[in-house]
Amino acid sequence: MLRLAIQKSGRLSEDSLTLIRECGINFISSSYKLKTEATNFPLEILFLRDDDIPGYVQDGVADLGIVGQNVLVEAGLPQLEVEALGFSKCRLSLAVPRADAYASIAALQGKNIATSYPNILGRYLAENGVQSNLHTISGSVEIAPSIGLAEAICDIVSSGSTLLGNGLREVETVFRSEAVLIAQPNLTAEQTELLEQLQFRMQAVRRAKR
Ligand code: ATP
Ligand code: ZN
Repeated sequence: MLRLAIQKSGRLSEDSLTLIRECGINFISSSYKLKTEATNFPLEILFLRDDDIPGYVQDGVADLGIVGQNVLVEAGLPQLEVEALGFSKCRLSLAVPRADAYASIAALQGKNIATSYPNILGRYLAENGVQSNLHTISGSVEIAPSIGLAEAICDIVSSGSTLLGNGLREVETVFRSEAVLIAQPNLTAEQTELLEQLQFRMQAVRRAKR
């Protein structure tokens, strides 16, 4: 038996459920249940907040998970990734108020930056020789400059319209992300066999879409 953790409700949820179904795995999902069992594959599906998925898989509470690389790398657990899934593509970018001068990343030296990704951003700034003050907030990061909390932000961008709507412009791409399948480090031999079957089916689904 394998336990797979997916996001309960959010941007990853629908594509995660679709992928499992396209792998020929049948299950009944109802919006209020936190777990369900597949009827034709030894798989149990857990519905969790995406932020909790890497930790649960690392600890073996779940054997597998589907999560964004942004969340996985921020949690410091990139080694759990076993397969890139090709959906929920987005990027983590730095943005500044549209009217502000910005020639290069050196412009952020000594500035306050609001983000939900202090680890990924901290590493990026260090690699670029910039020292800034990071303010970690968990949501509504885009409003930080307009309320005087920060001079810049680092957040997830897909189309850019949220940035535009908040008077910001994207100046640097910090990290590119997509959804990935992750696995706990201590699968049994039988579980490894099941994981291989699952990956084989996932790869076939992706090939069929090309
Ligand atoms: P939860 O309540 O589970 O904590 P959340 O609000 O943190 O959810 P979502 O906004 O649902 O997360 O995003 C989940 C993941 O989807 C992100 O971590 C990222 O990998 C991806 N994602 C976020 N925004 C976009 C986007 N605009 N386009 C595509 N993928 C995105
Ligand atoms: Zn989350």
